[in-house]
Amino acid sequence: MATSVTVACADCPYTEVYDSLRVARTALDEHEQATGHRVDWQIGRLSTGVERAGSDAGVCGLDDCNPESPLVHDWDE
Ligand SMILES: [Zn+2]
Repeated sequence: MATSVTVACADCPYTEVYDSLRVARTALDEHEQATGHRVDWQIGRLSTGVERAGSDAGVCGLDDCNPESPLVHDWDE
């Protein structure tokens, strides 16, 4: 199942949607470094509460979570 990651800048209208967490992070970092803006991201289909709970537990918290997904390995930030 594809994961959509929305990257949205808090300081300008920059918003992009990516289907890869890794690509989204790269774009986020590039925009922050290029502009000094603060960029947030949001993983598709996760509510804030689920996202937070998953982060606290060190797992994604999705019912269809794949333990071999790159998402899991990238989650510790
Ligand atoms: Zn920006």
